[in-house]
Amino acid sequence: MINVTRSSMPGYHEYCEEIKDLWDSRWLTNMGSKHKELETNLKDYLKCENLKLYTNGHLALENILELMDFPKDSEVITTPYTFISTTHAIVRCGLTPIFCDVNDSDYTIDVNKIENLITDKTVAIMAVHVYGSLCDVEAIKKIADKHNLKVIYDAAHAFGVSYKGVSSACFGDASMYSFHATKVFHTVEGGAVTFSNSDYENVFNTLRSFGTDSNGEITKVGGNAKMSEFHAAMGICNLRHIDEEINKRKTISEHYDSKLKNISGITLMCKQKDVQPNYIYYPIVFDGYKYTRDEIFVKLKENGIMARKYFYPLCNDVQCYQGLPNFDKSKTPIAERIANNVLTLPLYSDLDLCIVDKICGIILE
Ligand SMILES: *Cc1c(COP(=O)(O)O)cnc(C)c1O
Repeated sequence: MINVTRSSMPGYHEYCEEIKDLWDSRWLTNMGSKHKELETNLKDYLKCENLKLYTNGHLALENILELMDFPKDSEVITTPYTFISTTHAIVRCGLTPIFCDVNDSDYTIDVNKIENLITDKTVAIMAVHVYGSLCDVEAIKKIADKHNLKVIYDAAHAFGVSYKGVSSACFGDASMYSFHATKVFHTVEGGAVTFSNSDYENVFNTLRSFGTDSNGEITKVGGNAKMSEFHAAMGICNLRHIDEEINKRKTISEHYDSKLKNISGITLMCKQKDVQPNYIYYPIVFDGYKYTRDEIFVKLKENGIMARKYFYPLCNDVQCYQGLPNFDKSKTPIAERIANNVLTLPLYSDLDLCIVDKICGIILE
């Protein structure tokens, strides 16, 4: 069976070597030496000044909102075309998500539709870099500056992506990365925040560790979101191989491109100008093709190939939010159309090109 993704791992001995000294130090979590080393290495790789590691991406996102300390019931403009984590983070922090539609070229927030949604309760824009395509960061900054809003990016898909040579970690007030096992770079479970204001550093430290500040005083109602030494060690190893990982994915993506381009009724992900991508996913959108997305999904499955309907359903169409007035998928018709017609094909660094041929054969047959 071929799954939509398969986690990359360092060599067994490389990881064992990396964790060996933990048997001497017995320092297994709470910002030990592996944690420090990975933070430093990631700041280098992502070319950013401020970065904090997290136990996962979701809690990192919640901590960004907690740090900003918005009044309850404030509104955050976001998109429904994302993983449910983005929406849940807003709601779990006592805020109201207001859904903006996406554009149909790269599935990120449609910047022309943001301003209409701004009210006197709006405090932030939480935009999502989708499939490694970046949001229109310049337009978003202009709107946010004009209306005095914070900008937060869900950058879970954008590790290593840059725009005009500037790292995705440098846009907005803060960005969240996920280092979940299925992402391009991973620590098994893990994540990070990057941020522009270095004053935030102490607040993230405090929120991440039960609200305990640098003097040992409990100054915030914080949770526990620390990354362990074993997870950090996995990150140190994986980061050594990240360029090779992305290059292999590039080769596979280009092979898909060569088979699926110029097919009437199949839209490939757009190649953004001035953006260096990371090839995290290979989505295709069916639009007037001879078979529907669901028919292709079933056909692939019958052949042992597990593609994924990702993102589907939309975040404004999931069960737990049914009936809420701000959750109405008819208000985001482009996102709805993409969600109903998108299929993410298997993509991981050691995927054989023959399998890619087979997958494309099934789709095209
Ligand atoms: C993976 C992902 C998350 C959540 O990250 P975790 O590390 O799994 O908590 C959030 N948003 C998007 C878009 C993601 O793909």
